[in-house]
Amino acid sequence: MDNLRLWHKFLETVKPSLSSANFRTFFSKTLLESVKEDKIVLTTSSAFIKETLNQRHLPLIEAAFEKLLGKKVVISFTIKETTVENQDQEETDFFKPIQSPTTILNPKYTLENFVVGPSNNVAYAAAQAVVQNPGISYNPLFLYGGTGVGKTHLMLGLGNALLSKNGRLKIIYCSSEKFMNDYVTAIQEHKMGDLRKRYRMADILLIDDIQFFSGREGTQEEFFHTFNELQSKNSQMVLTSDRPPQEIAKLEDRLKSRFAGGLMVDIQPPDFDTRVAILQAKCIEHGSVLPEDSLKLIASSLDSNIRELEGKLIQVLQTLKTQNLSTDPENVAKFLGQAPKKPITTDHKQVLSTICSFFDISLKDLTGPKRQKELVLPRHIAMYILSEELRLTVEKIGQVLGGRDHTTVMHGRDKMKQLINKDREVQRLLIGVRQRIMS
Ligand code: ADP
Ligand code: MG
Repeated sequence: MDNLRLWHKFLETVKPSLSSANFRTFFSKTLLESVKEDKIVLTTSSAFIKETLNQRHLPLIEAAFEKLLGKKVVISFTIKETTVENQDQEETDFFKPIQSPTTILNPKYTLENFVVGPSNNVAYAAAQAVVQNPGISYNPLFLYGGTGVGKTHLMLGLGNALLSKNGRLKIIYCSSEKFMNDYVTAIQEHKMGDLRKRYRMADILLIDDIQFFSGREGTQEEFFHTFNELQSKNSQMVLTSDRPPQEIAKLEDRLKSRFAGGLMVDIQPPDFDTRVAILQAKCIEHGSVLPEDSLKLIASSLDSNIRELEGKLIQVLQTLKTQNLSTDPENVAKFLGQAPKKPITTDHKQVLSTICSFFDISLKDLTGPKRQKELVLPRHIAMYILSEELRLTVEKIGQVLGGRDHTTVMHGRDKMKQLINKDREVQRLLIGVRQRIMS
């Protein structure tokens, strides 16, 4: 079989397993370069396509060739840049040097592998709406939230989704530092024209961690004009920040109001169930399986930063592997016990007395019948911490809180779960209480 026919048969074989967008974007412009014994080389038209094929579709590719050739094969890739059609050469040349560092979005981050839960579902829905109607519905989309909650992942997932819908979109992704550095360099080298042309030709502009614009007046001025121009031609912008625009110090009011003029959504730290689901997803990515009870232990050892959660998972997997231990909860618990940052190791008496001193109320009031607001919230926080972190049963919690019914405890705990995702003040209080318990 010659290469062309083989490739054709190959495409026929894989097509049913792929979405049409994926097939078009990643396979239709890829070619079979050579077949030598069991070594197959594929030519892709960009590094992005190569990376995606390599990371996401390799098993499918290998299986299809094995089926067609009746033997196992080893796949490798080369890149041959093809000239982009319908784009004049000048633009292509201009775009190439600046496109390479910024437009290659890490294909690891997709909307498909973003786990959705109560803490991030609004942000996720907004990202999807933007993919459906870029530049129209929500411009800019402003995502904010603490460290490691998934802002960058969601923004790049959105970018990758847009790119797989239309491979010719000019997407610029950069950190706010990159934009600032480009601005400073442009001034020094008298190349403001280039800078403007570069950023203002974007169809999609993604800027990460915009809080670092704080106090950078020149950058803000330049960005303001870029923003206006992109908005006027319906180019979609997505910005992330660790806090909402109103809370970014030394940010010009006109930028604050521009940012607020689109859609602002926050991503909260994930709740326990979402943390477990994320760990499951990460296990699959790493090609391992852990029993759910083991994952729950890891999920309860860290509460807000998903990057750290993933780091811990990898540590656990490696340690168990090198020590040749099974993935049973006992072994995972042992590992977590050795880790420097421990989950709350304390008893319910300590938790209750810490809550009392934090809110400046007496234990008698906390566990008593009074139902003032100043007592109800601390009580709910107590129910939540005793249940989620100390893992006491609801019956036991009712008992230590002055003989309350277990349904009251369940209600209080669930109320807190909801509030944590909605109410920043409650979240701050909870973090404060936790810190004091751990110190
Ligand atoms: P941030 O930009 O908010 O600091 P990142 O987007 O860099 O956080 O996320 C940190 C890590 O956690 C990344 O590895 C990311 O893939 C992972 N992560 C965050 N949220 C999710 C999620 N909802 N589903 C799967 N992985 C997630
Ligand atoms: Mg980030």
